[in-house]
Amino acid sequence: MAQYKRVLLKLSGESLMGDKQYGIDENRLDDYARQIKEVADMGVQVGIVIGGGNSGVEEAAYLATLGKKVVVIQDLPTLTADQKAQDILKSRPNVEFRFNSSVTKFLLDENGKMKGVEIKNKDGKTEDILGDGAFEYIGLIPVTDMVKDLGIANKFGYIEANDKMETKVPGIFSAGDVNVKQIRQVVTATADGAIAVQNALKYLDDLN
Ligand SMILES: Cc1cc2nc3c(=O)[nH]c(=O)nc-3n(C[C@H](O)[C@H](O)[C@H](O)COP(=O)(O)OP(=O)(O)OC[C@H]3O[C@@H](n4cnc5c(N)ncnc54)[C@H](O)[C@@H]3O)c2cc1C
Repeated sequence: MAQYKRVLLKLSGESLMGDKQYGIDENRLDDYARQIKEVADMGVQVGIVIGGGNSGVEEAAYLATLGKKVVVIQDLPTLTADQKAQDILKSRPNVEFRFNSSVTKFLLDENGKMKGVEIKNKDGKTEDILGDGAFEYIGLIPVTDMVKDLGIANKFGYIEANDKMETKVPGIFSAGDVNVKQIRQVVTATADGAIAVQNALKYLDDLN
């Protein structure tokens, strides 16, 4: 069984600052460099990426630079990531794909550690994919149960709001990632919030 270490390294400006008010914390930088070397030296043998959207495809392309092989499992007949991300992933020589296939089970070894996944394709054929780590990128579920009886969410649970952040229930405004929208990032969430507040204030003014 291959030796492995599962590490998620996210290098951001803030994380490199450590406890400092400004500049880069050299100890933190050394620590990251040591971790990266450690992972590279050990070598991921086979990484399994579940999901062929942007997140999965981008992470698979990165994983392919560290591991010997990456297997991407996608339940649809094609990847759904941006074409540019797909092109980068497909240019990696050590990436395999399983399309029209869903993960049905995680496989464990005798010590209870994950050793792979079982997948089932659309014809009902199962296959065991052995790997050192599985990385899941199969989407997010918005936490909108509290509004489900109001009929303001779509079938995926995302709230439908207009460009004033009004839902179809007067007086209920919605902003951020829970909304139906193209890009879910801090900058779009805060912009939604500013718009929602302005329009909520106007709504309250109009009530008086
Ligand atoms: C791993 C990851 C990395 C990301 N990286 C970036 C990045 O680099 N740059 C970027 O711009 N965006 C990034 N994003 C996206 C960004 O985090 C979101 O777009 C942003 O946080 C959305 O803000 P929000 O206020 O809509 O939702 P959230 O930040 O999710 O805030 C919702 C808040 O509502 C609270 N809440 C939930 N239900 C209830 C309830 N019933 N009652 C009261 N409170 C409730 C939650 O606890 C939470 O505090 C990342 C997201 C993830 C998951």
